[in-house]
Amino acid sequence: MQSLVTPFGYSAESCGYCKDASTGRRTANSRASYYFSSKALTVEAYQGLVDRGWRRSGTVFYKPDVLRHCCPHYTIRLPVASFTPVKDHRRSINRWNSFILGDEYIKEAARLHPKSKELVDLPPFQLYQSKRA
Ligand SMILES: [Zn+2]
Repeated sequence: MQSLVTPFGYSAESCGYCKDASTGRRTANSRASYYFSSKALTVEAYQGLVDRGWRRSGTVFYKPDVLRHCCPHYTIRLPVASFTPVKDHRRSINRWNSFILGDEYIKEAARLHPKSKELVDLPPFQLYQSKRA
């Protein structure tokens, strides 16, 4: 496989998060990035881009121009193979699921598909092992 990219160039735009303190409106051209798109990238090329600060949204890749960008970007990496969720993580996942699904949906799902004793007694969900199985 080869990597194929289509450069888009450099673009400045207003930030969706930052607003001018006096007007309350978006600040024009407060952030800027380099862009390209790709529908085929080798793993090595993708890793090289990520290691150099490129980010991806679908097929669009962008690298923020940190000298012109109003908001700092933070890279979050999780070593999946060694990650084991602790109680706080599980609580956050449960809160998120509850927020997204809603109490009514959860109650109806529990009524329609009650957990068997075998399901209740299963060990905690492990994402990495589940994805590798
Ligand atoms: Zn901003």
